[in-house]
Amino acid sequence: MSNFVFEPTRIASLPVSGSDARFPVARVFCLGRNYHWGDSLNAVREVPAFFMKPSTSVIDATGELDFPTQTDQFCHEIELVVAIGKDGFEINEEQALEHVWGYAAGLDLTRRDLQMAAKAIGNPWEPAKAFDGSAPITPIVPASRDGHPRQGAIWLSVNGVERQRSDLESQIWSVSEIVSQLSHSVSLRAGDLIMTGTPPGVAALEAGDVINAGISGIGEFEVRIGSRRAS
Ligand code: MN
Repeated sequence: MSNFVFEPTRIASLPVSGSDARFPVARVFCLGRNYHWGDSLNAVREVPAFFMKPSTSVIDATGELDFPTQTDQFCHEIELVVAIGKDGFEINEEQALEHVWGYAAGLDLTRRDLQMAAKAIGNPWEPAKAFDGSAPITPIVPASRDGHPRQGAIWLSVNGVERQRSDLESQIWSVSEIVSQLSHSVSLRAGDLIMTGTPPGVAALEAGDVINAGISGIGEFEVRIGSRRAS
């Protein structure tokens, strides 16, 4: 028995690839621009820009995704997801991968119109990034089994038409750098996820669209976009 005034919220979790085990999710950090997009924001390697989603935004990347409210620009961003398995603070780059339990492929779903509106007036991004179901993620592949990917195709298509394709080796910040940088800002905890940025080609989704996406050697998935709620 506990003395909580009500039952604590259930913990978010993801399947572990090839196992009945589940990975318990603590927090979800996301990295902004981490591939060259060929636009005016190109090639700027300053301090990596982190933001967050709540753990409640994490869902399995299967079946039908809810179309979120309050947007006319519901956008896909395919990303490598890093799953932290060991606590750490001020981790150096050389030891960063020791803190990585595994990897997955995920979508940093974004209400782009809300993001643009927030940026325009200097408001926080949360309404654009932190909605329910905004982080569909594949089962986590343990690094103890498959190692740490340095390269591998990352792609996304909608209704059979490819929209995003790059390679993990094109990331501006490596996984070691990301883990180290983030750990100087906060104490990383086992269970934290880090979404590591998306290649160019992000675009809006419509109800009924079918997404096929993945990362070579890590995971592939298909999801369908559900209908908009009647308002
Ligand atoms: Mn993103």
